[in-house]
Amino acid sequence: MVILEEGRRWSVADFRDGHPIDRFAGLYRDGGATVALGRPPVVLPIGRAVGGTTVVNSGTCYRPPTHVQQRWRDDHGLAPADPDALAPYLDDVEETLQVGPVPPSVMGRNGTLLLTGATGKGWTSHPINRNAPDCVGSCQCSIGCPRNAKFGVHLNALPQACDAGARIISHARVTTVLHRDGRATGVAVRRPDGSALEVHADTVVVAAGAAETPALLWRSSLGDHPRVGRNLSLHPALGLAGRFPEPVVAWEGVLQSAAVDELHHEHGILIEATATPPGMGSMVLPGYGRTLVRRLADADHIGVFGAMIADEPSGRVLGRRLGRRLRRPLLRYDLTRRDTDRLVHAMGAMGRLMFAAGAEEVLTALPNAPSVCTVVELDDALASVDPLNLHVAAFHPTGTAAAGSDDQRSPVDECGRLRGTTGVWVTGATVLPSCPEVNPQVSIMALALAIADGIVTAV
Ligand SMILES: Cc1cc2nc3c(=O)[nH]c(=O)nc-3n(C[C@H](O)[C@H](O)[C@H](O)COP(=O)(O)OP(=O)(O)OC[C@H]3O[C@@H](n4cnc5c(N)ncnc54)[C@H](O)[C@@H]3O)c2cc1C
Ligand code: SF4
Repeated sequence: MVILEEGRRWSVADFRDGHPIDRFAGLYRDGGATVALGRPPVVLPIGRAVGGTTVVNSGTCYRPPTHVQQRWRDDHGLAPADPDALAPYLDDVEETLQVGPVPPSVMGRNGTLLLTGATGKGWTSHPINRNAPDCVGSCQCSIGCPRNAKFGVHLNALPQACDAGARIISHARVTTVLHRDGRATGVAVRRPDGSALEVHADTVVVAAGAAETPALLWRSSLGDHPRVGRNLSLHPALGLAGRFPEPVVAWEGVLQSAAVDELHHEHGILIEATATPPGMGSMVLPGYGRTLVRRLADADHIGVFGAMIADEPSGRVLGRRLGRRLRRPLLRYDLTRRDTDRLVHAMGAMGRLMFAAGAEEVLTALPNAPSVCTVVELDDALASVDPLNLHVAAFHPTGTAAAGSDDQRSPVDECGRLRGTTGVWVTGATVLPSCPEVNPQVSIMALALAIADGIVTAV
């Protein structure tokens, strides 16, 4: 088996010694500046490294909610998502990743404040389950863990694959999947020095993420199915900052540490205490010049929460018509009215949690009221919010080559085969039929294991 990865291999020494900005620019596609075009535009960081986005993710591990598994099974005909069928794969993933709850010793005050706010409001909350058994709370997950404590796939699945005989070629961008009349024969690869190579194989598994997979299929003349590139969900997110009377020092402790799920089932809103790595959080502060300098002097008093909403699949990858000439995809995503309302609702909920935890001021990032000091002021600001002023980001694109039993609706069949081909399989975030409604890595990995079992049986 040969694994081809466009990005480079990063070592723990690179994370320990590299400057945060260099790590950020190197670990993400487009230097971290990928955007889904729309109103408002959505900032969409996507990892590019041996180990994929798990190298930069926060380590948060959720099983897909049962109602999501049932929806995938019943509405999309995705048999492996049946809760009984998926359970052993979910167990396997959690065991491999060594998933466990964030202990109080590394939680940090940012997470504690979220839990305190939830207790004050009587809302359900919990320390987050993560795959970082040796975490010391250095808050750098999104730029590579300097302790190798976060168990991304570069530290478990890939070494396991290499032990079983796989080879990894980094700095290897697959330009096309090679095939003869839809029957896989291998892949063509280009490297950054301009050299090219081909790898010949009669089984090819495309796992290039939700943005790149459709583009690769189109470049390969394999993306004829009309739903390739459609059905993009982003699980969009917003952050809110609060100034507290006592120091928070949000960059000490686990980056994503605690969650409030009170509004999750009914409203699709999942709130998580999510800080930024040391020195990288100034964008949450309002103002510029002297005002910003004053704010920065007070930065250790700032707590940061984030909320994600279960969204409708209102986006798509652009570029189908360019086919083989498509060098990189563009994404288009337009928030629906329902999802805009959900984001505004989420802001109100996060603000309430901050005030319940003792915040003196909540920083909304809204131009009409960048700072509010009471729930009434917050509600006033949110009552007239213009969606274009929302600073939306997203970290969980899914669904652009969805798997399912309906050959009209799903470009990939329920076992992971790309329809109309022989020997071309697809997995990763791109096959999820709809937003998983939680941080998706565990769902993605469990379905990938199910697809892998099917491949082994089929070939
Ligand atoms: C900052 C951040 C934090 C996150 N935190 C969490 C979290 O805490 N918990 C969670 O569950 N999820 C989290 N996620 C999301 C999660 O990591 C991703 O959903 C998941 O890794 C996607 O898996 P994937 O295999 O589909 O794609 P990826 O992990 O993105 O892997 C795809 C790989 O394919 C490579 N590739 C693409 N095109 C080509 C090509 N043509 N040739 C060769 N290689 C190519 C890419 O470089 C990339 O390395 C986070 C995401 C981000 C950005
Ligand atoms: S919080 Fe720090 S130590 Fe813990 S996993 Fe993230 S980067 Fe590693």
